[in-house]
Amino acid sequence: MQGVGFRPFIYVLAEKFNLKGWVENRNDGVLIKINSEKKTAENFIKEIKKQAPLASSVKEIKIEKTGYETFPDFKIKKSESNSDAVTEVSPDIAVCDACLEDMKSQKHRINYPFTNCTNCGPRFTIIKDLPYDREKTTMSEFAMCDTCKSEYTDIYNRRFHAQPVACNNCGPHYTLYYKCNFYKKIDDILEVVAYLTEEGKIIAVKGLGGYHLMCDAHNEEAVLNLRKIKNRESKAFAVMVKNIETAGKYAELSAEEKTELSSWQRPILLLKSKKQLAHPVTNGLSNAGIMLPYMPFHHLIFEKLKTDAVVLTSGNLTDEPIITSNEEAFKTFEDKADAIITYNRKIHNRTDDSVAMLVNKKLRLLRRSRGFAPSPVITDFNTEGIFAAGSEFVNCFCIGKGNQAIFSQHIGDLKNSETFNFYKESYELYKRLFRFKPKIIVADMHPDYLSSKFAEDLHRKFPESRLVKVQHHYAHIVSCMAEHGLNEKIIGIAFDGVGLGDDGNIWGGEFFINDLSGYERFSHFEYIKVAGGDKVSKEPWRSAVSYLFHYFGEEFFEKSDFFRSKIETNQVQNYIRLLKNNFNTYKISSAGRLFDAVSSLLDIVQISGYHAEAPMCLESIIAENITDSYGFDVSDFISFKKTFTGIIQDIKNDINISVISAKFHNTIVNVILKMSEVMKEKTGIGKVVLSGGTFQNKYLLTKTENLLSEKGFKVFSQEKIPSNDGGIALGQLIIGANI
Ligand code: ZN
Ligand code: ZN
Ligand code: FE
Repeated sequence: MQGVGFRPFIYVLAEKFNLKGWVENRNDGVLIKINSEKKTAENFIKEIKKQAPLASSVKEIKIEKTGYETFPDFKIKKSESNSDAVTEVSPDIAVCDACLEDMKSQKHRINYPFTNCTNCGPRFTIIKDLPYDREKTTMSEFAMCDTCKSEYTDIYNRRFHAQPVACNNCGPHYTLYYKCNFYKKIDDILEVVAYLTEEGKIIAVKGLGGYHLMCDAHNEEAVLNLRKIKNRESKAFAVMVKNIETAGKYAELSAEEKTELSSWQRPILLLKSKKQLAHPVTNGLSNAGIMLPYMPFHHLIFEKLKTDAVVLTSGNLTDEPIITSNEEAFKTFEDKADAIITYNRKIHNRTDDSVAMLVNKKLRLLRRSRGFAPSPVITDFNTEGIFAAGSEFVNCFCIGKGNQAIFSQHIGDLKNSETFNFYKESYELYKRLFRFKPKIIVADMHPDYLSSKFAEDLHRKFPESRLVKVQHHYAHIVSCMAEHGLNEKIIGIAFDGVGLGDDGNIWGGEFFINDLSGYERFSHFEYIKVAGGDKVSKEPWRSAVSYLFHYFGEEFFEKSDFFRSKIETNQVQNYIRLLKNNFNTYKISSAGRLFDAVSSLLDIVQISGYHAEAPMCLESIIAENITDSYGFDVSDFISFKKTFTGIIQDIKNDINISVISAKFHNTIVNVILKMSEVMKEKTGIGKVVLSGGTFQNKYLLTKTENLLSEKGFKVFSQEKIPSNDGGIALGQLIIGANI
C-alpha cells in the first residue's frame, strides 16, 4: 500500500540487517532487491511481517533469486509509474498518538491541526493520481518549509517521505467564519467554537472527506435545530465523544467494541445506548452511533469544549452527497449554520464516515467509506477489467484489478442527481487511479437502476466489452461467498427490501442453492400483492394491509377496527380497492416489507422517515430473553398466515409490543433454521451463507448464527463488506469473473 511509510521502514530494517540493495514503490506493489545470505534474507522477511507499519497490509511476499549483483548501499528508489498493474491507495488514517504529542511539544507544531506523519493523516481524500507523491495530492499547493523538508528527507524521522507533512509555518490553516468575521488563529477559533457550542449553536466544520454539522449532543434545542437544517426528522445522528472513557459513559462497550472504536479507521460504531444524550439525537433508538476523534482538530476542540459529546453529522441536505468544496459549503450553510469552519486544503475525494457494528464479536461494516476505501478485497479470481456497477440504493461500485476487487467509497442513493454525478465522477477517478479499462461490465437486472443504465452506456462506449446482468439476491449471496473464499455449492439465504427477480416479481425473502456459476431458487417468502409503486416501501401500513388482506380477506377489515387508530379507514379502503382491481399492483416476497408490516401492525412506524426505519424501530424495542415465537408453514413457499394470526391474537390480548417484536424475530430465525434443515436434507449441503440488508438487524443475525451453528451448520455472513446493497458490487464482480 502506498503512503503508509513502508519504504522507509524497509530502509531502516535493511540497515539493521546490514543489507545492501534498494526498495522501490511500484504500481503493482513494493519491490526490494538485496544481496544477501539466505538465512539473513529469511530473518529480514520475518521482521517485515512482524513489524510492518499499522496501516500497511502485507498480503504476500514473493521471493526470487536473480543474477549476482553488488550494491554500494541501501537505497529508496524514486517511484515511477511503470506498470498498468496497480498497487493500493491507502485510506485515510486517524492521527496517531505521537503526532498528538508533537502538537504539545514541537515548536513549529504547537496546536497545529494538520500535523501528520508516515503512520497517520490524510491519504485517499487528497490523492489526485498515482504514484502517491506530494505533487499528485492537494498538498501540492503548499511548499514545505526548511524544517519540514529536513524531517521529510531524514530517513530516521517519523516524517520521512510523509507526503502531507506540514507545520504551522508552511502548511494549510483553518478559518472560522462567524457573524461576518474571519478568525484565523487556531486559539481564537477554538475559543469561539467552545463558546458557540455551549450556546447551542450549529457549526459547519470541514472534515477529512467532507463537511460535518456539529452541535452539543446534550442540547436538545440545538439538536432539533440541526434536524430542521438537514430536513431530517427522525434518523439518528452520529455522535463524536472526547475519548474512549467518555464513550463508556454513553454506551455499553465490550472489549472488542473498544478495540474497533479506537482502531486507526475510527468508524462510527453502533453501540447499545445508555440514553445519556439529548433525546432527539437518536429519538429513542436502543443503539447510538458513536465515534472517537480522528483529526487533530477534533482533539483540539475537545480540549476546549465543556461538553464531551457532540453531534457530528454529514454536512449535506438530506439525500445529497456530503459537501466537500468551500464555495459549496458557504453557499449551503451561510444562512443555515451559525458559523462555518473551513481550511484551505482541498478535499479531492469525498468520503463519509464509515459505520459498523459488532455481531458475535466480529466487525460488520454497514457503510464502507473513510478508513476502508479504497482498500481492496483479495479474491481467488482474475478480476482484471471487470466493472461491477452495484445497486441503486446505498451504492458502491467495484472495479477489478489483478485478483483484487477495489470498492468505491460509499456513494449513496443514485436517484438523487447530485449523488449520481458523484457516482460518475468516482468512476472516472478510479479509472484513472487504477489504470482501468472495462472488459466485462456487470450490472443489476433491474432496467431502471441508474447504475444499470450507466453500465449500458459504458458498454456502448466499449463495444468489445461484455455486458452481464445479474439477479440482485444472487449477487448478495456471492458477495458474502467472496468474502469467505467460498467456491462450491452452498445454501444461500438473502433477505432484503427489494430486488428484481427472474420472474418479474420483486424478491427479497430468498432461499437459494447456488455456487459461483448459477443458482436454483429453492424457496421464498409467500408472494403478497402490494400497490402504490415507491410508496410501498415508504409507507409500511400498505404492507400491513396487504398481508392482512392476503391472509384474511376483506372481511377482516369489516369485522375489526384494527387500523382505526392508526391509519384512516377510507385510506385503507381505497388501498384495498387498488389491490382488488389490480391497479398498479405487483407481487413481492420481500423480507423488508414483512418487517414493515409487523412494525405497522404494532403501530411503531406507519410512514417511514428514512430507509428501513420501520424494521429498525421494530428491532430497537425487542424485549430481552424471550424465547417464544409464532407459527409458519413451509410448502413451495413460506407462509406467514400463522405468524399474523398469532400477532393479531397477542395484540388483542394486550401483550406488550416488545414481546411481540421478540416473538416475531424469533419466528424468522426459526424459518431460517427450518429451511436450512430442509435444504440440507435434500442436498447434503451444510454451509449456509447469509446476506442482504435485513441481516444488518443485530438481533436477527446474532440469533441466526448461534442457532444454525448449534445445529451443526457452518454459517457465513458479511463482515468487511456490507450485507446491504452497498456490498452487492462484489458479488457482481465475482459472477463476472466466473462466466
Ligand atoms: Zn502521526
Ligand atoms: Zn513546515
Ligand atoms: Fe438488496
